[in-house]
Amino acid sequence: MLTLDTLETSEPQADLPVRHVPSILEKVRTYKKHADQVKADGLYLYMRKLESSSESRVTVNGRELLMFGSNNYLGLTTHPKVKRAAAKAMETYGVGAGSVRLLGGNFGLHEELEQRIAQFKGTEAAIAYSSGYVSNLATISTLLSRQDDIAVIDKRIHASLLDGLRFAQIPFRAFNHNDMDDLEAKLADSINKGNLAIIVDGVYSMDGDVANLPEIYKLAKQYKALLIVDDAHGTGVMGAKGKGTAEYFGMHGHVDLVMGTLSKGLGGIGGFAAGPTDLIDFLKHNARGFVFSAALPPSTCAGLIAAMDVIENEPEWLIRLHENANLMRKGLQQLGYTTGQSVSAVIPVVVGDDLTAYQLARALHALDIYVSPVTFPAVKKGSARVRVSVMATHSTEDILKALSAFAKARTLVPALAFPPPKEETDQKVA
Ligand code: PMP
Repeated sequence: MLTLDTLETSEPQADLPVRHVPSILEKVRTYKKHADQVKADGLYLYMRKLESSSESRVTVNGRELLMFGSNNYLGLTTHPKVKRAAAKAMETYGVGAGSVRLLGGNFGLHEELEQRIAQFKGTEAAIAYSSGYVSNLATISTLLSRQDDIAVIDKRIHASLLDGLRFAQIPFRAFNHNDMDDLEAKLADSINKGNLAIIVDGVYSMDGDVANLPEIYKLAKQYKALLIVDDAHGTGVMGAKGKGTAEYFGMHGHVDLVMGTLSKGLGGIGGFAAGPTDLIDFLKHNARGFVFSAALPPSTCAGLIAAMDVIENEPEWLIRLHENANLMRKGLQQLGYTTGQSVSAVIPVVVGDDLTAYQLARALHALDIYVSPVTFPAVKKGSARVRVSVMATHSTEDILKALSAFAKARTLVPALAFPPPKEETDQKVA
């Protein structure tokens, strides 16, 4: 079996006169040293092994915990109708699609899923990708070009959108989070330098707040910019019918191009872009993440179609989700925690430094509450947090139990004995 030592290709060239050139594997060792220390301190909380499905209660190491670290917001991952639809298609088609869509892997269920997504999002057409990450990277890097276009982005957009810009070397200007004056300044400054595109998230994944879509839409029209919204955390969650952040603002179907994931509110896996037919067709024949990557399993498509049916036919889940989120948000605020501007199912508990975030998550784990610490680079340095995500399938007692654990944790984590710091500003964008 290969180990890091047998993989070593060259000695670190430490004595070069100009600068130290680390060996290719040196960064692996530096990382390992850091990770080993975090583990030795008992603060490593990533990749805890789930021994049950991703529901409101999970089993870890034989112990039951209340799950507040899953994006399975509506509980559709294990909804009986969703499971039945996926299982039936699995029996018929097996576990994979066998090829990319363009060649040998295009099934009726893919086309039905895309039509269903378009209908759900109020657009002409949609394209389904293998993940939300791929959807953002492939769509942005295919639609925009280095020579002709310039993107104006919120500083907190998701990494996958940023990676799409970087992948295709598209010039971009970043405006302060949800700051409409700054957005307008950046648009005014970019005009005549290329075709403009504004890129924002619908719901911000680490903050749970929403883009100011009505104002952004107005500015997009004024500056003739294409408006692109990643609604990964809004789809199935925001708006009276769960159609997304645009619906929440009464703008359903008005955004030029909506992207998102099929892995959170919809409970499965995959990503999508929804917009005008010709644009979607262009993506289907040019987006490398689609053209060169295998199609989603048909069974996944069947489960996702059923998930959208459930959202439309069983509105009680969405109502319950927001009741739970409101109760949790209010309770955390009453305990003195800083929860930012969250209005969604994502509630950040901002504590400031990384160590406090790890300690809080560890204390909560010991109290049978599963939450994830979030530190740089997912958020700006100094704004580390514990990210709480609420599910429709939590009972009121579950929320109250979590709140009493958060109350107890304040007495267990030294830095939380004092008022937590005010929320820090923006994610760093290079
Ligand atoms: N956009 C946002 C805002 C996200 O939070 C995520 C998931 N973390 C993605 C895109 C990527 O989606 P997926 O996990 O399906 O790749």
